[in-house]
Amino acid sequence: MITRRQTRAVRVGSVTVGGGAPISVQSMTTTKTADVEGTLAQVYALRGAGADIVRITCNDAEAAQGLAGIMPRSPVPIIADIHFQYRLALAALEAGVHGLRLNPGNIRDPRHIREVARAAAERGVPIRVGVNAGSLDKDLLDKYGAPVPEALVESALGEIRLLEDAGFGDIKISVKHSSVPAMVEAYRLLSTKTDHPLHLGVTEAGPPPAGLMKSVAGIATLLLEGIGDTIRFSLTADPVEEAEAGRKLLEQLGLRERIGLDLIACPSCGRADVDVVAVATAAQRALEAEKLSIQVAVMGCVVNGPGEAREADIGIAAGKGKGHLFIKGKVVRVVPEADMVAALVDEARRLAAEGVEARLAAADGVAEELARETADALLASQGDANDLAARRARVARVAKGD
Ligand code: SF4
Repeated sequence: MITRRQTRAVRVGSVTVGGGAPISVQSMTTTKTADVEGTLAQVYALRGAGADIVRITCNDAEAAQGLAGIMPRSPVPIIADIHFQYRLALAALEAGVHGLRLNPGNIRDPRHIREVARAAAERGVPIRVGVNAGSLDKDLLDKYGAPVPEALVESALGEIRLLEDAGFGDIKISVKHSSVPAMVEAYRLLSTKTDHPLHLGVTEAGPPPAGLMKSVAGIATLLLEGIGDTIRFSLTADPVEEAEAGRKLLEQLGLRERIGLDLIACPSCGRADVDVVAVATAAQRALEAEKLSIQVAVMGCVVNGPGEAREADIGIAAGKGKGHLFIKGKVVRVVPEADMVAALVDEARRLAAEGVEARLAAADGVAEELARETADALLASQGDANDLAARRARVARVAKGD
């Protein structure tokens, strides 16, 4: 059980960040903001992939005008990403955005920050102080010699002070670094200094799979410590992948409810009677098209499969040219191997419509017996990998030279 750090609640349009609210997933569009239709199409795709909040760059006057066209039609709250030009923050507010992201490394004049804070406060719009190791304030770089965690935190706290002195408190903070250990350290330190909600991310993580690993390593480490209120994977990839990855991470950590398919599969081994990778891939494709919120297991053999995956809602295990369909670990039907995926999808549909009890009641009465016979036949030919006592005895005999 994760005990989350207490933070203040900040409203980003319809989404609450911090204050015990569910951890939200963010992503960022890659379209030109002036292209209203293209940007909205991506915003919808991101929402479909699990994003709760979407950030859009506001890098010139055309982008700010694009935001004015996007805002009334967006299905999720929109945050404008601002660098260097504080006037574009004012323009984005005028366009109706739900949040601003300011980079303290490149909007330096306190008068400008105060002016933005005043305009944001009038509209009830929060500001993220988004510190980034790659664009750290030059004075802090000179002081620390490198973008070390302490420098990132000092930058964030300095900006917060400016905003709070202007009477503005609706603040979220990020201190992103491309090094996972430095990022983790920066957030840990920051979490001891402030109760503003924290936006987690590893910056410039790069393309998958390395980018995914960096992001998961940094973000999951902090979330497991109770640190973090909203997250973004910064991948060099289609942003839909970012949103999907963020959402999946939260689901796997038990921090958000599952909204789609969770396919588990055994890694396969010499005991497998089928190409587990091919079956799992085909099952994933077919089940995703069904849009069912269900946990499905694909197991390479009936010897261990149904038992090991008994927590899954439904699963299939191969053995001697057949597929053994099981629900909550109980084998309910045996089908030819060629029909495994089709049978799995059919049963998943029925399970979603009728429920576990009804589908267990409709089980084929001889399926369990057939599965046992197949498992026994496989054990007879392959041996029982789980029979530790027999294995120990064999090892002992070999060791003694019997
Ligand atoms: S379920 Fe069977 S095939 Fe898959 S890893 Fe376990 S023993 Fe091997």
